[in-house]
Amino acid sequence: MRTPLYSRYHKIKERCYNPKNKSYKRYGGRGIKMCDEWLNDFKAFESWALANGYDPDLAIDRIDNDGDYSPENCRFVTLLENNQNRRTSRFYTYNGKTQNLMQWCTELGLNYRTVMFRMKRGWSFERSITEPVIKRNREELIGQRFGRLVVIKYAGDEFIGSDNNSRYICQCDCGETVMVGQGKLKSGHTKSCGCLQREKATERMRKDNPMKKGKPPR
Ligand SMILES: [Zn+2]
Repeated sequence: MRTPLYSRYHKIKERCYNPKNKSYKRYGGRGIKMCDEWLNDFKAFESWALANGYDPDLAIDRIDNDGDYSPENCRFVTLLENNQNRRTSRFYTYNGKTQNLMQWCTELGLNYRTVMFRMKRGWSFERSITEPVIKRNREELIGQRFGRLVVIKYAGDEFIGSDNNSRYICQCDCGETVMVGQGKLKSGHTKSCGCLQREKATERMRKDNPMKKGKPPR
């Protein structure tokens, strides 16, 4: 009989042992296994689960994220706890001290997102926690003109690929307002709300058409 607990058990086996499973590369592919006792006998897993606070609403969590599914390394947690554990489960050593990223950030007074962002870009852990953060001056662009656009106000940051881009509300000479990323403003990529391109296109059509019509027939 397929109880919810059995299907939980089956899913764990799938992600550890079935290379076709979509989660396999994060489990079996990383060497995560199920202990022999559980693997050979669902009943063994079931009795461990029932004795350790199993509830269908709880997630099964591996205490050491790189460890196996085994009685020593598993516990039932709420989904929130499970996510927190996943995020903080990597440990980093610096100056002879080892702790997780959240603890490092708290100790050094660093912004967790900033450090994560740096590491995702490929910075080493040490560089990520030691290089000073240059605070971008978000006000500096306000009032500046870029083509037909005048920057009115800062409108928040967004992540584009691996880049953090500040967006600004700009007023166009034609009266429209648009939101533009600072990269596009500074590079000269965006110079209007779109009205400039529309005008150019109309102009091109006006120029092109009479010429074609005006060509003498051969
Ligand atoms: Zn415009």
